[in-house]
Amino acid sequence: MFSIVNRTWNPVTGCLHGCVYCWSRRLAETRLRRTKKYRLGFQPAFHGHELRARFRPNELVFVSDMADMWGAWVPREWIIRVLRHIAKFPRTTFLLLTKNPARYLEFRDVLGKTGNVILGATIETDDSEMYREHGISRAPSPDERIRAMSRLRDYGFTDLMVSIEPVLDFTPGFAEAIAEIDPLFVYVGYDNYGHRLPEPPLGKVGSLIRDLRSRGILVYEKTIRPAWHERKRNKRNNRPRQ
Ligand code: SF4
Repeated sequence: MFSIVNRTWNPVTGCLHGCVYCWSRRLAETRLRRTKKYRLGFQPAFHGHELRARFRPNELVFVSDMADMWGAWVPREWIIRVLRHIAKFPRTTFLLLTKNPARYLEFRDVLGKTGNVILGATIETDDSEMYREHGISRAPSPDERIRAMSRLRDYGFTDLMVSIEPVLDFTPGFAEAIAEIDPLFVYVGYDNYGHRLPEPPLGKVGSLIRDLRSRGILVYEKTIRPAWHERKRNKRNNRPRQ
């Protein structure tokens, strides 16, 4: 959840990207499985009754934090129905987030008219090779996501955001790639659930944040801490010698 969000709304749930660190899947397949909404666990589902939801002016609503609503498997009709509902609340802002931002391009005519959405992409790293080698996710590669977000910018979309969470080790060109997207804001944070991901050291993340800010990008910090491998090393170094 992002600090500036007022509420979440889940007209679509479920996801097939299979990210190794997914907390939504774990929640949907355990505690929430007993509820009617998640009786299918994390299988993609559309919840028509959510289209009765009403939103207040000036709210920032995070749409489908329990899904990737823009996954290749999501029927076009589901997306159109959600976007039509969003258009009924022009004074509310809706934050969309995906690991498949190329799909925004498919809906660019509708999204262009809506005017009250922020198009977000999770881009945990720019190192697609490392991403593949570690089997992080079946989602489109970080490179593909960066390209899709830059194309949206070329099409005139300016209300863009990037979530670098959970942050993974990245190349020296990462800040530049994010700057080319020119997002309204960026969230950065480490994994919260102890997955032992290929994390960059804390100093490197600090430099990234400073670099992004020096380029005029608004950065919100989430969990910022030493990488798990640094903590392990620190613990070893601090052990009393016998
Ligand atoms: S894209 Fe998001 S919802 Fe889908 S598996 Fe990955 S972390 Fe979970």
